[in-house]
Amino acid sequence: MRNDCVFCAILDGEVPCFKVYEDDTVLAYLDINPFADGHTLVIPKKHVTGILASDDELLAQVVSRVKKIARHIVETLGADGFNILQNNGEAAGQSVFHLHFHIIPRRKGEPLSFTPAKGDLGRLERMAARLHFEDGAGVL
Ligand code: AMP
Ligand code: ZN
Repeated sequence: MRNDCVFCAILDGEVPCFKVYEDDTVLAYLDINPFADGHTLVIPKKHVTGILASDDELLAQVVSRVKKIARHIVETLGADGFNILQNNGEAAGQSVFHLHFHIIPRRKGEPLSFTPAKGDLGRLERMAARLHFEDGAGVL
């Protein structure tokens, strides 16, 4: 937990989130300003600033969760594909310095806009209810 880190505040329950998935290693929740419906962030529960600050074991664990969560999102939304976005450093567009992977569902013919949509709380709430899952819910 880092006091100045909004993602640590989410982990700590001080800031609310639209949760998609949680286990001992990661928390996944909807991006508050999504590039597309179902845009999800996967973060480790341990505060590390980015890929280079993470040990290989943690990174491997987080990536395995990213795969599992991405599969769940694609299947649940019937998406045609997805992008993984992972920014390191201010110059690369990183704005929150707690390691996170973006999972951005994609549909054929819909271009990806890197201009985030203004988060619509009702829409995010409905999407989180649709996407939320737990281990053992048939997702490997
Ligand atoms: P990055 O630019 O890769 O650092 O991405 C940070 C992302 O975190 C952005 O897409 C923000 O919209 C998202 N974000 C910031 N604060 C929150 C929050 N409280 N809940 C959900 N997403 C957030
Ligand atoms: Zn943090």
